[in-house]
Amino acid sequence: MTLTQIEPVRGKKPFYKSVRIIRHAVMFFFFAFLVHVAWDHQVKGGGPNGSPSVEAYCPFGGIENLYYFLTSGGYVRRIEPSAMILMAAVLLLTLLFSRGFCGWVCPFGSVQEWLGLLGRKIFRKRYNPDGVWVRRLAYLKYVLLVVIVGFTWHLGTLVWRPYDPFLAFFHLGSGMSEMPFAYAALGVVLVGSLKYERFFCRFACPLGAVIGLVGKLGLTKVTREDEGCKGCNVCRQKCFAHVEFLTRRQIRDVECNHCLECVANCPRPNVLSLKGWKWSFSHGSYAALLLLGFASMILVSKVSGHWRTKPEGVSFVNAAGQLDPDQIRGWMSPREISTGYGIPLEKLYDAARLPRNVDSNTRVNQIAKTYNIAFEPDQLREVVRGFVRPGGPARKTSSHVPGGEEPEVKGFMTLNEIVMKTGVPKQWLVERLGLSAEVDARKPVREFLHAEGKSIEDVREAVKAWRTTRP
Ligand code: SF4
Ligand code: SF4
Repeated sequence: MTLTQIEPVRGKKPFYKSVRIIRHAVMFFFFAFLVHVAWDHQVKGGGPNGSPSVEAYCPFGGIENLYYFLTSGGYVRRIEPSAMILMAAVLLLTLLFSRGFCGWVCPFGSVQEWLGLLGRKIFRKRYNPDGVWVRRLAYLKYVLLVVIVGFTWHLGTLVWRPYDPFLAFFHLGSGMSEMPFAYAALGVVLVGSLKYERFFCRFACPLGAVIGLVGKLGLTKVTREDEGCKGCNVCRQKCFAHVEFLTRRQIRDVECNHCLECVANCPRPNVLSLKGWKWSFSHGSYAALLLLGFASMILVSKVSGHWRTKPEGVSFVNAAGQLDPDQIRGWMSPREISTGYGIPLEKLYDAARLPRNVDSNTRVNQIAKTYNIAFEPDQLREVVRGFVRPGGPARKTSSHVPGGEEPEVKGFMTLNEIVMKTGVPKQWLVERLGLSAEVDARKPVREFLHAEGKSIEDVREAVKAWRTTRP
């Protein structure tokens, strides 16, 4: 049965019906949506009263969270349920439509492709060269995938975040000092995209690696009919991934992102087409089904109450139900913190050495920038710790120890993360703290410390003790 027979569109259809225009319109839709999300997040901040971050819309977050979710039902810090839902949606749609997500939806792929339009003008025939090293470098993304997922699953923390160029791009230039490596990686990607089409997609994207592999099983494939093909190889010349056509009837290449440039540029009608099982798809119906698939899965998860893109509520207590200063987030305001921990606002300001002209409704992660003063949210955590823990002012956590500066230990860090950052052996730390065997080393320590009768200060003391006595 044939839904729609695809036809070469060049010169036969109005320009707005061409593959390129329709695909770029779809790409622009998703790009504009994510820019809107990013902008809103910068303006309103995060948290339950703020706006979701772009991470809530990244399916790779779901992959990073998968092991933790399956083994404990929880979420790694900064991952929201929407990322898991989008991961499931992307993988399911990839089984149906192969790697169409990359070619039609992913906004970071679109950015690279648009930069490539400029690169074509700069490098002309030298743009996007093929070669053995280009093909070998494409394996880098699988190595990155294994390393990122392995460390994330083991440590229970987003290890890729500080290096993620996607995140840097959609932070719209803010937080450069927080993520210098991510911005450096973004610079490389943007420059690289001028020379190689979809530079990051082809060489480094861990999500693209997963989608490419799953897409090999996808139902929908570009198909070539031997009959009618005159062997001109225009398809390969137009393919950004330099896929080989003439020896194949079906394109199952992991790099094929269903951009359909090959189909649109084939000079012979009906030689190349997009087929899935017994059906042929026009680019319009392909785009419509892709969009419908996404929209319906998000709709179902919303209706069923599973869709969530930001934290549900402001909480000052930990899993053990105790007031915990490590619950302070950058999107909270001094007023919320004062109310939440029952500390008079003036006392909080004095102890944190906050000037009185700082509006108490300002988000704590915006105070330094807004008032041009040296201030970090951690200052408030330390101050609150002094109030919440009976026994006076906050203790300093960094003091000189042999072997260098004391590494920071925070309540949101997992035990595995603390072990990796401080170099303290896990078994030693567990025994020193007297933790039970049931504690999950991939959970933030604040989720179990109080239940174990310990505090983050005890962990810091233990780390300090080990580092002081060992060379
Ligand atoms: S490879 Fe990665 S960056 Fe490129 S389009 Fe796919 S998911 Fe997006
Ligand atoms: S094979 Fe065709 S659809 Fe696939 S990436 Fe190449 S040009 Fe695009």
